[in-house]
Amino acid sequence: MTYQTTLAGPAVCAGVGLHSGVRARMTLRPAPADTGVIFRRVDLKDRDNVVPLSADAVTETRLGTTIANAAGASIATTEHFLAAVFGLGVDNLIVDIDGPEVPAMDGSAAPFARLIARAGVAKLNAARRVIRVLKAVEYVAADGRRARFEPSERPEIDIVIDFESDAVGRQRFEFSPDCDSFAESVAPARTFAFASEVESLRRAGLAQGGSLENCVVIENGKVVNDGGLRFADEFARHKALDALGDLAVAGRSVVGRYVAERPGHAVNNAALRALLADVDAWTLETLAIPADSTDHEALERRAAASA
Ligand SMILES: [Zn+2]
Repeated sequence: MTYQTTLAGPAVCAGVGLHSGVRARMTLRPAPADTGVIFRRVDLKDRDNVVPLSADAVTETRLGTTIANAAGASIATTEHFLAAVFGLGVDNLIVDIDGPEVPAMDGSAAPFARLIARAGVAKLNAARRVIRVLKAVEYVAADGRRARFEPSERPEIDIVIDFESDAVGRQRFEFSPDCDSFAESVAPARTFAFASEVESLRRAGLAQGGSLENCVVIENGKVVNDGGLRFADEFARHKALDALGDLAVAGRSVVGRYVAERPGHAVNNAALRALLADVDAWTLETLAIPADSTDHEALERRAAASA
């Protein structure tokens, strides 16, 4: 897609946050070209409440990705929503939220993808700008988790996970947000947790909004939820969804291949920061708008597929 986009009209959703348990209402508003994706904490009146996307704005990655501005206005668990925004190719958006955490919805990005598809994606008369990866950059964490960016013609995400639990095991999932159907293949994959961890999370004041309605729970090697999994490899698909959402804090699509082994939010953000810190490894590229562009039709097909 070579044109910038925004929503054709506003859209609203509401629900409780997975970790805070606090209910929030989110209003998505169309925005002009070169706005980017901007959150506004409309419940905070005493300070700067505008939180633009930036890799450096990430302040917490333990259980989700929190972004904040210098005044301390923050938004937690941004990754599933941002995966939907970037997976559906929306460049410019103002997101008004009246609480500290993005609603968990069903634990996946599908409700956000449906919301965006219903509102419609509109083309703007300005060329898209992307982060193009020029050379490989690797990040290796102390515990052996690793991730790397490599040059590629399109954005690609390739995830391997390896859990001891038989219900999960080793899984690999790869997709391209440009070529594959994000709405069908990735957006519905839900977040997951092990029952053995849930109690300690709750005692630590986390997972307050978590339930079988918004999380796949694994106990004694089995999925507890009625109806089981949405995909046999739902766990790897969800980690790919998380990676797309975590890389989205860069504010622009990353055109390159992202290969990660057992990633989490911390690894995704550290790898992104490593890429951006190496000025020879990437460039901000303005995509050319072809004279006889069929881009608009591609947008409509994508929106229709996710409706
Ligand atoms: Zn997630």
